[in-house]
Amino acid sequence: MIFCTNHLVDKGVVVDDRLQTSHEAIFAAGDIAEHNGYLYGSWHAAQFQGTIAGLNSIGKDVKFGGIPRSNTLKVLGLDMVSIGQFMAEDGSFMTISNKDENAYFSFTFHDGYLVGSIMLGDTEISGKVKKAIESKANFQELVSGGVNTKEVIDFIKKISLGNSPIKPYNITATFLPGVDLFK
Ligand SMILES: Cc1cc2nc3c(=O)[nH]c(=O)nc-3n(C[C@H](O)[C@H](O)[C@H](O)COP(=O)(O)OP(=O)(O)OC[C@H]3O[C@@H](n4cnc5c(N)ncnc54)[C@H](O)[C@@H]3O)c2cc1C
Repeated sequence: MIFCTNHLVDKGVVVDDRLQTSHEAIFAAGDIAEHNGYLYGSWHAAQFQGTIAGLNSIGKDVKFGGIPRSNTLKVLGLDMVSIGQFMAEDGSFMTISNKDENAYFSFTFHDGYLVGSIMLGDTEISGKVKKAIESKANFQELVSGGVNTKEVIDFIKKISLGNSPIKPYNITATFLPGVDLFK
């Protein structure tokens, strides 16, 4: 209550990229933290932000760049998952999709990276798709020559994406390329 009265609170407790609140000694993570206008409201985000807030609170300098938002729904009895930036914003994005009797897939790419996807009817690979987006797996070569959704799915199944990106020791390789959190 005292915090809310004296510090920056909007939809949640407002934090900057280091997950620091408007009080320099207080960091926030998880459901309470509002970053760039977003309240993530998921266990995955809470754990990842908690790691970053914890590291910053002991003097490290680690930035939270946001994570792809994802939703899982049942639509007319079919499973549907949407992840990240699944609509092309402008001509610099490329979206490919298919539609057959059993499933619909769409994959959106930007600068050779997969940035978003919609899967309807068959969501088995959604975990791998999410990891491919978060880990910035490079699709440049695959998409440069024209590609269909089956080839993208086969590629995602084949590439090694490591373990869960929420494990602290994988953060460097997945969310924050080039930043060594544990120096
Ligand atoms: C019914 C339900 C289902 C969900 N299912 C999913 C799911 O399938 N997948 C998913 O990713 N997320 C799911 N979520 C969301 C997920 O649980 C939260 O995003 C996550 O738990 C947030 O973690 P947190 O540590 O920020 O907050 P919390 O887990 O809420 O932890 C906050 C803790 O602070 C304690 N607390 C509160 N006030 C005080 C106080 N004044 N003093 C001391 N302690 C206090 C609370 O008791 C609580 O233990 C679900 C949430 C709900 C409610």
